[in-house]
Amino acid sequence: MKIDLHRLLQDCGALLDGHFLLTSGRHSDRYIEKFRLLEQPDALDKVATAMTEDVRPEDVDVVLGAAVGGILIAGAVSRILGRRTLFTERVSGVMTLRRGFRLAPGERVLVVEDIVTTGGSVLELLKVVEQARAQVAGVVCLVDRSAGGLDFDAPSNTLLRLPIATWDPDTCPLCRQGVPLSKPGRTGKS
Ligand SMILES: [Zn+2]
Repeated sequence: MKIDLHRLLQDCGALLDGHFLLTSGRHSDRYIEKFRLLEQPDALDKVATAMTEDVRPEDVDVVLGAAVGGILIAGAVSRILGRRTLFTERVSGVMTLRRGFRLAPGERVLVVEDIVTTGGSVLELLKVVEQARAQVAGVVCLVDRSAGGLDFDAPSNTLLRLPIATWDPDTCPLCRQGVPLSKPGRTGKS
């Protein structure tokens, strides 16, 4: 099933226009508040179905995401595939498996992520897989916001590319116009 993710984000009210301070410290005129989509069970199901379209359940043992958004996405994706759901949390800034979650050596892991901008979180998840001597079955992301597209050293798929312009505060046109800056909800990760 092909979905129009841009439309779905819009319909859920997840695409915000304004003047936003990003985790990177840069400013943007757009922000994706992914939880407006993730909080809708029908929308989440649609997205999870699209994310698993090219994935064969028999090629995956575990679905891995990063807290907080990744808990919801990994849960929805693993329900479709009938596989375990694991998620990482940051401990002193380092992505870590807690709560007794274990990846066994050789297990095939599907890494899922919601919004990727620099791909840093995905790289950290891949590192968790590598450190457990498990295997990466693939990487599936919801939205790629990077300017040039991201390339992970693994089979990967992204549902939507939506490059978003960002500015250094010094050159931000919205700052120059005096538009109030807002700081969207933070999750402790980018
Ligand atoms: Zn600005």
